[in-house]
Amino acid sequence: MRIVVLTGAGISAESGLKTFRDGGGLWESYAIEEVATPEAFHANPELVLNFYNERRKQLFDKGIKPNAAHFALAELQKQYPWQVTLITQNVDNLHERAGATKVIHMHGELLKMRCEQCGNVSLQEKDISLEDQCTKCLQRKCLRPHIVWFGETPLALADIQVSLHSCDVFLSIGTSGSVYPAALLVKMAKDLSNAYTVEINTNPTENGHFFDKHLQGSASELVPKFIEQLIQDKFYE
Ligand code: NAD
Ligand code: ZN
Repeated sequence: MRIVVLTGAGISAESGLKTFRDGGGLWESYAIEEVATPEAFHANPELVLNFYNERRKQLFDKGIKPNAAHFALAELQKQYPWQVTLITQNVDNLHERAGATKVIHMHGELLKMRCEQCGNVSLQEKDISLEDQCTKCLQRKCLRPHIVWFGETPLALADIQVSLHSCDVFLSIGTSGSVYPAALLVKMAKDLSNAYTVEINTNPTENGHFFDKHLQGSASELVPKFIEQLIQDKFYE
């Protein structure tokens, strides 16, 4: 069986990381245009770097831990002889911390930075400052979070497309279906592979009509349950 999983901010909500659009979400305190576009970064790099420095720091807070949904997906990837492609829109590291073996971060990662001059991508656990020097090209004022901002092209689209060409089950978890092209992956799984498509979300989503099955509820409860059914081959019920 070939399974493609797409996760969004909702899978990390129960781990203590706020989603973008839910009540109390990050975007109530910040306007998207202020912190998540290349234009914002060039207009006010310090504000944008600080926003992501805060997000990065938060990953090290004691209370922030992977939940049962992250663990169930990691087990699925490790324990069964299936091809499991785990794609996330999340920039946190909770899939990895749960033990996932390979994660495609299509919107980038908080724990990486990139040089705008030479393109070098490196691991980054600390704050990024304008004065920091790129370790490769030695320039300054050129380091940015390795995050895909609005208006930029997501990462690893070729690998994602390959996985959707051979997909039996497409599972979407905790994503509102309002960010493109991520919201279209379900349609591609249908068009390219006639995949069986399932979504798990606490609320209705904007691309809900593309799914064969809707499981309404929290990821930490429903993801382990669904995976258990998948293993027993009862997921069509
Ligand atoms: P979103 O905020 O647009 O949607 C979150 C979705 O999760 C909603 O549909 C909501 O109903 C659902 N949800 C909330 N709690 C849930 C739970 N406990 N169980 C199941 N579903 C739940 O997020 P998105 O669709 O991922 O897209 C927005 C962008 O947000 C992405 O590009 C991503 O990079 C970014 N983001 C990432 C993080 C993170 O890395 N943890 C956090 C916030 C935003
Ligand atoms: Zn450089």
